[in-house]
Amino acid sequence: MHEYSLACEIFETVIATAHDNKALAVNSIKLEIGRLTHVNPDQLLFCLGVLSKDSIAKGAKIDVNFVSPFGECECGYRGDAGVSDNDRCEDQPHLYEYAVLTCPVCGKLLQLVGGDELMVRTIDIEI
Ligand SMILES: [Zn+2]
Repeated sequence: MHEYSLACEIFETVIATAHDNKALAVNSIKLEIGRLTHVNPDQLLFCLGVLSKDSIAKGAKIDVNFVSPFGECECGYRGDAGVSDNDRCEDQPHLYEYAVLTCPVCGKLLQLVGGDELMVRTIDIEI
């Protein structure tokens, strides 16, 4: 399962950071997930919950922030290629929905940049 290995990486990062800072507990974790990673956030959060239940990250609040890719055009246009909704989970758009985006300036197809990151943005710990 894709999400499980990603959850392991995130969990190791969180625990390593917590240990480095001599934390007693992890209060909350903010994740940044690019929309093009096709990660299922529910599965990811479930895996993180399983991994952290015997650790100092047990019960930590996990926020997920989705990152949209940028569209870039050869004419120099650069803009947000993401969808304008505020959905967090189920309605993640798929790659093909971006593939038909055209430049609002010259009408050519936009190149997608970014949107494929998955990182721990902040970790709030109890010291
Ligand atoms: Zn253009």
